[in-house]
Amino acid sequence: MNIEIKNKAKGFNQLIENNTNFIIFGHVNPDGDAIGSTLAIYHYLINRNKKATIITPNDFPDFLNWMPGADKILCFENHENEARGLIQKADVLIFCDFNDLKRLSKVQEEIKQSNLPKVMIDHHPQPTGFADIEFSDTSVSSTAELLFEVLFEISANDYMNTEFANCILTGIITDTGVFNHNSEQPRTYEIMADLIRLGGEKQKVINEVYNNNSYNKLQLLGNNLLNGMHYYPQFATAFIVLSKADQQKFNYKIGDTEGHVNIPLSIKDVNFSALFIEKDEYVKISLRSKDSFDVNEFARIYYHGGGHKNAAGGKSYKSLNKTIENFVTLLEKHKQEIIK
Ligand code: 5GP
Ligand code: MN
Repeated sequence: MNIEIKNKAKGFNQLIENNTNFIIFGHVNPDGDAIGSTLAIYHYLINRNKKATIITPNDFPDFLNWMPGADKILCFENHENEARGLIQKADVLIFCDFNDLKRLSKVQEEIKQSNLPKVMIDHHPQPTGFADIEFSDTSVSSTAELLFEVLFEISANDYMNTEFANCILTGIITDTGVFNHNSEQPRTYEIMADLIRLGGEKQKVINEVYNNNSYNKLQLLGNNLLNGMHYYPQFATAFIVLSKADQQKFNYKIGDTEGHVNIPLSIKDVNFSALFIEKDEYVKISLRSKDSFDVNEFARIYYHGGGHKNAAGGKSYKSLNKTIENFVTLLEKHKQEIIK
């Protein structure tokens, strides 16, 4: 860990030491890393005799329900007044797994007006600089991994228990697709070993997250691959389209398409994949790539979004059909970057 992070960790430790009430924020449409890292720091703070609350802009998917403390997460959409009250009474605000207040949707106005000390822990590129203490590192597998590094620097294994370890494990395992991507650094595996020594249950995490499907969810996957997938070998691209009609047919719930966007990328010679989910006011877009094609840039330019070089997301405000038509013209335009 470099000196800059060591110094920031000291500052963060001072904030923890000198304050009592902490609010921890995860991003909109929270994933395993957002929920894993917010819950991990929640457990750490509770174990340090602090008060902590997690707020997410909207609800998280069912496959994270099992996580220790998940039942205490406050969803802003459903508990707006309570959440506002808590933010007003807080001493310190902590932000995990995002680096732009836009990712807080409706909560962002509340935060922009607040003068409370802000701490950000995140692994996405291009941080916007909204926090007083920023832990930002794009080389780690996940925010959960970076959070472990920061807290270990502050207090070694103190205040880290099995619940904490399982939360960090969930962040690392989900953000790497069970060590499929973003997992080239030896440090990730050293931290895995530490987590298992702390009582972390790797197999339990995998079973809870991945071997817990409903019948509908698998039927939806089957339909997405058989009827929803479009393949453009000339652009080294394949993508999945999920209309509202098909969502109804398979009783779709948030989280049911988790991981689907990665599947077209497993086709030999495909370098770029996408998933389009039709919503009421926009089309939600997930993008994935292999190697040099930068989907963070693509999402920023065309879809009001962002993310990482090989995994990003955004929105289109055109109809589903127009969005797809337009996407195919963009494939033609970016063909050379995609196929190389
Ligand atoms: P997913 O496709 O799984 O929703 O997201 C992939 C990655 O892109 C994640 O790191 C996520 O945080 C980021 N991402 C997804 N949607 C957006 C968005 O609308 N804006 C930004 N800045 N990042 C996004
Ligand atoms: Mn993440």
